[in-house]
Amino acid sequence: MDQYTTHEHDVLVIGAGGAGLRAAIEASAAGCKTAVITKSLLGKAHTVMAEGGIAAAMANVDDRDSWKVHFADTMRGGQYLNNWRMAELHAKEAPARVRELEAWGAVFDRTKDGRILQRNFGGHRYPRLAHVGDRTGLEMIRTLQDHGIHSGMEVFMEMTIIDLLKDGDRVVGAVGYDRERGRFRVWRANAVILATGGIGRAYSITSNSWEYTGDGHALAYRAGADLMDMEFVQFHPTGMVWPPSVKGILVTEGVRGEGGVLRNKDGKRFMFDDIPENYKSSTADNEEEGWRYTQGDKSARRPPELLTRDHVARCINREVKAGRGSPHGGVFLDIAWIKERIPNSVEHIKKKLPSMYHQFHQLAGLDITQEPMEVGPTTHYVMGGVKVEGDTQMSTAPGLFAAGEVAAGLHGANRLGGNSLSDLVVFGKRAGEYAAKFSKENSTGKVNKDQVEAAIRESLAPFERGLAAGGESPYAIQQDLQKTMQADVSIVRLENEMQRALGKIEEYKQRAERATAMGHREYNPGWHTAIDLRNLLMVSEAVTLAAIERKESRGAQFREDYPEKSDACSKFNIVLKQGGDGKMQLIRQPTRALPEELKVVVEENK
Ligand SMILES: Cc1cc2nc3c(=O)[nH]c(=O)nc-3n(C[C@H](O)[C@H](O)[C@H](O)COP(=O)(O)OP(=O)(O)OC[C@H]3O[C@@H](n4cnc5c(N)ncnc54)[C@H](O)[C@@H]3O)c2cc1C
Repeated sequence: MDQYTTHEHDVLVIGAGGAGLRAAIEASAAGCKTAVITKSLLGKAHTVMAEGGIAAAMANVDDRDSWKVHFADTMRGGQYLNNWRMAELHAKEAPARVRELEAWGAVFDRTKDGRILQRNFGGHRYPRLAHVGDRTGLEMIRTLQDHGIHSGMEVFMEMTIIDLLKDGDRVVGAVGYDRERGRFRVWRANAVILATGGIGRAYSITSNSWEYTGDGHALAYRAGADLMDMEFVQFHPTGMVWPPSVKGILVTEGVRGEGGVLRNKDGKRFMFDDIPENYKSSTADNEEEGWRYTQGDKSARRPPELLTRDHVARCINREVKAGRGSPHGGVFLDIAWIKERIPNSVEHIKKKLPSMYHQFHQLAGLDITQEPMEVGPTTHYVMGGVKVEGDTQMSTAPGLFAAGEVAAGLHGANRLGGNSLSDLVVFGKRAGEYAAKFSKENSTGKVNKDQVEAAIRESLAPFERGLAAGGESPYAIQQDLQKTMQADVSIVRLENEMQRALGKIEEYKQRAERATAMGHREYNPGWHTAIDLRNLLMVSEAVTLAAIERKESRGAQFREDYPEKSDACSKFNIVLKQGGDGKMQLIRQPTRALPEELKVVVEENK
């Protein structure tokens, strides 16, 4: 059997994005020996890509804002399937977490009187997103990384965890390999925190990076933890659609927050045609009012371009399907038009949206200060993930915690923009705190050597299958899976298409058993892809099964065969777990009723 190195820690954090780093800082501060593992280099986790900002009701720009309005916005955005305790903690604690980032060195954009500036974003009633131009994630990760390094955490870069290790029911560590040389390692730990991000690479059009292969979801599932809300995959309305090589790359909602408008090929602002009933009273019904809102007029209501992402994505889809789209299958997003209103619009756009200016200039040869962009929906975020306890972030597997995009609950059926970065720091901190507590209260668990060896054997199997002996390229299987998910389990869903997808996923599982890695273990992306495949397959099956089970349209899930919301479906979350027979089991878990005081908050802020 292959040799492996063993490391010992109190708390092991898998993932070095915003959630993982914030968790590690907290666990280290509690005196725990803490390790952080990342597939990429430190500072390169997905969080670095975040653009628009971090949501926190600091009321710096509009003093009517408060945790109550933020809570009500988050619940309404999530269509009331949210874990309300998480939504409450999030709304109450986000401002303190943002100020903490500032105290640790994050340089946010400022208001004229020197406070942290906040911008408009979809679904948020008031300007609420603290930001650093459109590079907020970069500033956040830089700050957490600097602070974390000084708090003494140990970082393992370019390493992939392939399995969690168990002692009975309890999770007691993890096994993985270094991507550079392909050597195996074991981390023994009293508590493990998953902070591995999302699943976007299950789809062919996505804003997500190569790291998003659903590893944390699959690790938790295989370790016996419950997953929840997997049917809710967010398709961001505005990704690049042209040229083909950059299809899917995100165009931040900040463009619309700064006054950008959506038009179809006839030049019509089609978003005014379809304003959902529950947003009518808070949405502008004419262009003039919408513009005034983006410029900070407190008496104006938000333009319909700033409705929730699920709705805007569907409206764009509808325009394209009706033949009213742009030349390359999207619609037009125009910020250049603001020159009619602002004398120095070119400088203004470059200052407010520097990355967007650069992105379109470099990748599409287009100057956004002069011309409209072409945009269309892109797979962006998964609301579903590891089911956790709201206060502590512990999963249903003892010793295993989860925070950030890999965890479920806060966002319900649909996430509001900006609520992820705040999620990372609010619940990253909590996961670190409670994992440290768990570590102190529990004696060290035993690592099972057989489990380690089985995991290593399984991951080396692709080298033993030759292409000549019927083996297959893992890339071909991954691409076929992505095409299937994109075609059959995407923005608009139908039972028969999803059943077809399930059948194909079964085929791909069999093909994955034959996935082959060529050459040796050093720097071998084909081998990494073969290993990632089983995670992508697992999350794809979970998304599809849960989407079939939810026979209604709500939030990010739109069923053409069940186009309305159903009262019965508003009363449960879908939980998935591995059954005794190894098959995926679905449970309709009743939602917990809102306590009276929070009901009042929701009613008052409708
Ligand atoms: C382009 C873009 C812009 C966005 N803009 C915003 C925004 O403005 N505001 C907002 O709130 N949200 C935004 N989001 C969403 C937000 O950025 C993400 O949801 C968030 O950063 C996820 O953070 P995380 O800490 O959960 O995971 P990540 O930052 O993705 O980190 C995951 C970590 O886990 C590691 N990992 C994964 N699997 C393994 C494994 N098997 N072994 C070891 N390590 C592993 C990865 O290497 C990485 O270090 C944006 C997303 C995108 C794609």
